[in-house]
Amino acid sequence: MKLVLLGPPGSGKGTAGVQIADKLGVPRVVTSELLKLETRSGSEVGQLMASYMDRGDLVPDDLVIKTVASHLKNMSGFVLDGFPRTVKQAQELEKMVDIDKVVYLETRLAVAKQRNLARKVCKLCGFSPQPHLMSCPRCGGELQKRADDSEQAIERRFENYLRETSPLVDFYKAKGKLVQIDANDPVDVVKERIFSVLGLL
Ligand code: AMP
Repeated sequence: MKLVLLGPPGSGKGTAGVQIADKLGVPRVVTSELLKLETRSGSEVGQLMASYMDRGDLVPDDLVIKTVASHLKNMSGFVLDGFPRTVKQAQELEKMVDIDKVVYLETRLAVAKQRNLARKVCKLCGFSPQPHLMSCPRCGGELQKRADDSEQAIERRFENYLRETSPLVDFYKAKGKLVQIDANDPVDVVKERIFSVLGLL
């Protein structure tokens, strides 16, 4: 199965991605992790990408599309987290692969912002557990705040989401691929809803 996760920052795409990928036995493709690999390489392109990411701005389409396209080539199933984020990216994705469903994690902006402010991620594996935990429940790694979870960067990410990414809801609705989930509730409730609509219970 080829799935896309869609929703504002803090809607739980990362968590849902892990749950669905584990259940289906397919890999997760996390766009920001692919971009971070490039930033760590120290290349000029990587430095350019990092400057956008740290501010909470979207990395330009041509760079992201190239990165994701080379990764998705020949994959027979995946859960795609963080791509597409613009109509241009969605159009390019259509040319690359045939997506089965787009899981839209509908989240009120106030709820999503609060989750971002509270969020901590594992230094080692990138997992984002419940914020009250002191270490990663998956690998024991140390938890830290994300560099782009400052109040200013969160605001930028939301502005960008509303302007660039939210039109994708109608884009995929028109294609009959959108599955809408109420993602305002705690993680286990949302998981049950997702598994139920995808027939994974
Ligand atoms: P995320 O971890 O999905 O919240 O993404 C973190 C940051 O990576 C975003 O704020 C963007 O700067 C960048 N990014 C991730 N996915 C994309 C994308 N599809 N298009 C442009 N920038 C992206």
